[in-house]
Amino acid sequence: MKLILLGPPGAGKGTQAQRLVGKYGLVQLSTGEMLRDAVKAGTVLGLQVKDIMARGALCPDDVVVGIVEERVEQPDARKGFILDGFPRTVPQAEALDRFLAGKGLSLDAVIELRVDEQALLRRIETRVAQMRARGEPLRDDDNAEALRERLRAYRKLTEPLIAYYRQRGLLRTIDGMAPIPDVTAAIDQVLSAASVAAEDKPKRVASRVKPLAAKAMTRKSPKRGGTAGSRTGKDKMALRKPSARWRPSPA
Ligand code: AMP
Repeated sequence: MKLILLGPPGAGKGTQAQRLVGKYGLVQLSTGEMLRDAVKAGTVLGLQVKDIMARGALCPDDVVVGIVEERVEQPDARKGFILDGFPRTVPQAEALDRFLAGKGLSLDAVIELRVDEQALLRRIETRVAQMRARGEPLRDDDNAEALRERLRAYRKLTEPLIAYYRQRGLLRTIDGMAPIPDVTAAIDQVLSAASVAAEDKPKRVASRVKPLAAKAMTRKSPKRGGTAGSRTGKDKMALRKPSARWRPSPA
């Protein structure tokens, strides 16, 4: 299973990825973690990206694509992986398609965690406060200015990936505002539908959607912050209506 978790900073991608790792034996490939490790280790790559990351801006596409391509070749990624924080731009997504195709691989699903911006800010503030209380060192980009830049970069450069993956029939949108276990259950449903579809593509067998997961998949679209713009009618449908591929079969 090869998945992408898509969503703005603080949407819960890391939390959900960790919950899926044990369950499915997948590895979590977080580009943010890889880059932070490089910064900590003081490698050439780390020195190159340190200031960019501290500002909350995106690192160059070729740098990030290079580390992901190398990482998916490691033996532990053979069973499958969850990309957390990658791709973040259309050129990154195109590079991913190319190098996966070159290895005879393809993505099974792209899961968008949709959240509202006010809730995001609260989540990040809570995380920062908890880390402070535990005496843990804060990330260089855990400050209001860098956070604004991270959200701006998401809207401008990463949000276009929603249309990119929708056009390819891979996008599944989940309400990231639902309680954590409900979000996980909704992801589980997407994954079981994706594995059925992968095993039996011609028959297009529909999977069942459990009520708990359906709740996270069909909650009303969260309101978004002022500058983000409004959702299209098509986007709203993605939240309210399971797509034909994973519509529940009659009980
Ligand atoms: P994250 O931990 O995913 O929030 O990433 C932290 C920071 O790492 C981002 O703000 C970027 O500076 C950098 N970064 C992580 N992933 C990418 C990516 N796919 N493309 C460019 N920059 C990235």
